[in-house]
Amino acid sequence: MSKELIRLKDVSQTFDDGVTVLKDINIYFNDKEFLTLLGPSGCGKTTMLRIIGGFQTPSTGDVLFDGVRINDVPPYRRQVNTVFQKYALFPHLNVYENVAFGLRIPREGTDPNGKKEKVKLSKAEIDARVREMLEVVSLKGFEHRSIASLSGGQQQRVAIARALVNRPKVLLLDEPLGALDMRLRKDMQQELKRIQQQMGITFINVTHDQEEALAMSDTVVVMNEGVIQQIGTPEDIYNEPKNAFVADFIGESNIVDGIMRADRVVEIFNRRFACLDAGFEKDEPVDVVIRPEDVDIVPEAEGQLRGVVTSVTFKGVHYDTIVDFYGFKWLIETTDYCPVDSRIGIKIDPDGIHVMKKSKYSGLYGDYSSYSEEYDEINDPTLLESEEEGAGDED
Ligand code: ADP
Ligand code: MG
Repeated sequence: MSKELIRLKDVSQTFDDGVTVLKDINIYFNDKEFLTLLGPSGCGKTTMLRIIGGFQTPSTGDVLFDGVRINDVPPYRRQVNTVFQKYALFPHLNVYENVAFGLRIPREGTDPNGKKEKVKLSKAEIDARVREMLEVVSLKGFEHRSIASLSGGQQQRVAIARALVNRPKVLLLDEPLGALDMRLRKDMQQELKRIQQQMGITFINVTHDQEEALAMSDTVVVMNEGVIQQIGTPEDIYNEPKNAFVADFIGESNIVDGIMRADRVVEIFNRRFACLDAGFEKDEPVDVVIRPEDVDIVPEAEGQLRGVVTSVTFKGVHYDTIVDFYGFKWLIETTDYCPVDSRIGIKIDPDGIHVMKKSKYSGLYGDYSSYSEEYDEINDPTLLESEEEGAGDED
């Protein structure tokens, strides 16, 4: 199994203006892992990367590498390299020289007797390493090209080769694909993943693009307001968001108020739904997330809930269908075409219902709504038959 390489322990960062941009960060990064820090602009992603890279000393807390505190170790002595969003290549050097640059600088090493000495790589060794790296990033044959003659994607590859040629154990990437157009970005996502696997090192990537995070990562770290909201595999983060912020930030979500009536029974809009969640207090108010693709449209009479279609947008593979339930609009992705104004029913399987604890983010996000009895009047409550007796007051 992969072992822990870097750990941030109780790390906080407060700048001179008194604003705290990272709060009590505790996280570890495993060897050979592709991890992505994901969150909206300003949430502290770059600051966290700078702390790992050694460009920023945290106000409090420790940075550990292989269990050793490295707070005071400068960037060039860490086994960590960074690819910045603006690639910062040398425009007057060709591709080969850009990659070779870091190898030509004599580095501190120890001789066989343990004495410090300056180590200089031989010309042949530099040549072998540069050619190996250019091959890894698929730029073989580009050695003598000028930087200006390269596309954005090719420049990006040079920047990656240059950062990897010193054989760091960790590569930090700050929104590396941000400057590329959409098509190229998708290609480079796969390329980065391949390079990471081929090199067998840790990549810590930063993005505000949730699709990119899900597509590339072994582990996704969702951040907001300087606080880690959730750490997990892409599947965990998508399927089991921990709070309304994560649910809203990752993919499209319908988020509604619910009440946990028992283990695996949640009440939404006065109706009881089977779910897979357990361990809540009885009658605990919760947030419930329902993904647009997890809702099945059925004939009105068969629906667990019934509503009216208010808009339909063709998306190529499916229709984005907005349905009004009780005055609250849900987004449903369906391959069934239901015209505007048609009355439909919906069904949700237990595994399509995700129950979350209430948090400071409850009620803050776009499509969030809570049930009001007025909605029954709007929607004709006689149409709503309860699946269980006594839904509502129990005690
Ligand atoms: P992200 O990369 O997630 O967009 P950053 O880590 O760059 O976020 O910034 C987080 C917050 O910290 C922002 O509000 C930013 O303005 C602030 N910030 C970053 N660097 C400094 C600094 N050197 N001094 C003061 N504030 C800073
Ligand atoms: Mg940033």
